[in-house]
Order: sequence, then structure tokens, then C-alpha cells
Amino acid sequence: MKVFTAGDKSRAYCYHCLDIVHTTILLRDVRFSDGQGIAKNILVGVCDDCGSVVATPRSR
Ligand SMILES: [Zn+2]
Repeated sequence: MKVFTAGDKSRAYCYHCLDIVHTTILLRDVRFSDGQGIAKNILVGVCDDCGSVVATPRSR
């Protein structure tokens, strides 16, 4: 399985752009979907077009 590192390029479906977009893997703080906390400094894919977090690659 590919291990992502910050700055890697990838492709993923962006729910904001409604299309497959190029993404850049970056460290971000991401709020859990249940709203009960924030994951600090996890690697996520960020849409190059709109800046939305579009994927959370498994890094460990
Ligand atoms: Zn987008």
C-alpha cells in the first residue's frame, strides 16, 4: 500500500467540485464527523481547485 507523505499529489473525488480532482497531501487538523474532537496533524488530501479536504489517506 502506498504511504502518503505531505506534498504528495493524488487524485480523489471532491464533493465540493463534484468531480475527480487533483489533490495535494497535506497535514491538517480535521474535525471528526461526530463533532466530538479534532485530529491534529493528520495527512489528508486537499482539492487543488477549491481547497476542501477530499480524502483521508490511511497513513498508519
Ligand atoms: Zn474541490
